[in-house]
Amino acid sequence: MLGLMQSQQLLISSLIEFAQRHHGTAEVVSRRVEGDIHRYTYEDVAQRARKVAHALDKLELAFSDRVATLAWNGYRHLELYFGVSGTGKVLHTLNPRLHPDQIVWIANHAEDKVLCFDMTFLPIVKAVHGRCTTIKHFIALCDADKLPADTGIPGLQSYEAWIAAQPTQYSWPEFDENSASSMCYTSGTTGNPKAALYSHRSTMLHAMAGALPDALSMSARDSVLPVVPMFHVNAWGLPYSAAMTGAKLVFPGPAMDGKSIFELIEAEEVSFAAGVPTVWQMMLAHMQTGNLRFSTLKRTVIGGSACPPAMITAFNDVYGVEVLHAWGMTEMSPLGTVCTLKNKHLSMSPADKMTVRLKQGRGIFGVDMKIVDGEGSELPWDGKVYGDLLVKGPWVIKEYFKGEGGAALVDGWFPTGDVATIDSDGYMQITDRSKDVIKSGGEWISSIDVENVAMAHPAVAMAACIGMKHPKWDERPIIAVVKKPGAEVSRDELIAFYEGKTAKWQIPDDVVFVEAIPLGGTGKMQKTKLRDMLRDYKLPGV
Ligand code: AMP
Repeated sequence: MLGLMQSQQLLISSLIEFAQRHHGTAEVVSRRVEGDIHRYTYEDVAQRARKVAHALDKLELAFSDRVATLAWNGYRHLELYFGVSGTGKVLHTLNPRLHPDQIVWIANHAEDKVLCFDMTFLPIVKAVHGRCTTIKHFIALCDADKLPADTGIPGLQSYEAWIAAQPTQYSWPEFDENSASSMCYTSGTTGNPKAALYSHRSTMLHAMAGALPDALSMSARDSVLPVVPMFHVNAWGLPYSAAMTGAKLVFPGPAMDGKSIFELIEAEEVSFAAGVPTVWQMMLAHMQTGNLRFSTLKRTVIGGSACPPAMITAFNDVYGVEVLHAWGMTEMSPLGTVCTLKNKHLSMSPADKMTVRLKQGRGIFGVDMKIVDGEGSELPWDGKVYGDLLVKGPWVIKEYFKGEGGAALVDGWFPTGDVATIDSDGYMQITDRSKDVIKSGGEWISSIDVENVAMAHPAVAMAACIGMKHPKWDERPIIAVVKKPGAEVSRDELIAFYEGKTAKWQIPDDVVFVEAIPLGGTGKMQKTKLRDMLRDYKLPGV
């Protein structure tokens, strides 16, 4: 017997319709490429998303055709989020930090038909448009009078001119909720990038679960700043969860430096912000220098790479901001776990609480996890034994776009490539990427643990641990360190700093001071590049 409830498809267009009807006056504020602050409401977003829908219809694209963006976090990008997916096209967010050759490869692989780009990226588009063989329409996200005359890009038009004459009424099409809605290529460091292709259903369920109190806890009382880019995994679903809850949205545009982010948080009374550790590093340095304090920021979700304990302490103890450590992947839309405390943790000592907060957190409803050994046998949730982390759920990838990379699943589970422990309360802790874990004398050393100790030293701005070949131990860890400007620490002082903080055999064999640690397009440390940089390095005594 089937249930007798209405079977309404979960479609992204319903989000902006809801936001308009119930939160029409809630604000969306953007720092623009033009440098000024743009301010309007969900009512305006909805009207302009419908104009986008009409304009797209005029291009006579097929259902599921890809419409690419090369854009910062801003209101026009938001309109495309709803306008493109709402009409049944696929929003393909390109990462402008990639090398132009990679952008060409990805755009051709995705068979993008339209490219909408911020003027910041005009030089990239000028350089690549001739090689993007499937793109037929180029749209610059600006006013008509900001468009230079002689770009050489065929048929280039401004976004504002493109949508200007379109009506604000539109009847969003109804279709299968399993239809593709958006896509994002992985920031994979080996081989060609592969794309995760999200559906309306997966996006809606992810946005709903992400907004829950023990996840990101979003509501109409929040002012939300996604520093995490809209060009990488849909800004962790925040634009969708915000529309679903009526939260005010604040977009940083291209200004990602500590000063600009801090000023935006203060001016727009931001209560909740989301970003990767490198962004917060810059902002905390700015605040420290100016002895600044937050007036409204209550919580920040930090993920994308491991959040160092020193950062959790700074946010929590110095600035009174709760850190939600979170973990996810492009292949998971991306949210997998969020570290929110249970009742039993609240009365813990600060040190014990920190042990919990350092973990990547509990699986949010919808994400099932397990850890397995080399033979694929499931390992216990005791917080000690570590193994390969596998996940499944309605917003976890089934296979990559065009079947690239073969089957993504093993017995219905997606192997994340991360190594983790899970404790009896269900808190997962990443010990490493499986390829970064250091195998020393038959034991594994977590590069994250080694980095976290170094990051707690006051003279260290950034630290990356990698394994170096060793004739006796197989591999030994070394730590590459960027010093804070004007700060000093010697190799021996830093090695001594590890005493008592970690087991002796986990202390790195050496410290290498570097000017910078290579970062990838999404702000993650690129250890393969670091290994290349240190190709000629020899471990002491080897
Ligand atoms: P991406 O698909 O580019 O978002 O990268 C996903 C990978 O980033 C994961 O598989 C993890 O290795 C890493 N990652 C994401 N969040 C965290 C976190 N909180 N701690 C440690 N690693 C993380």
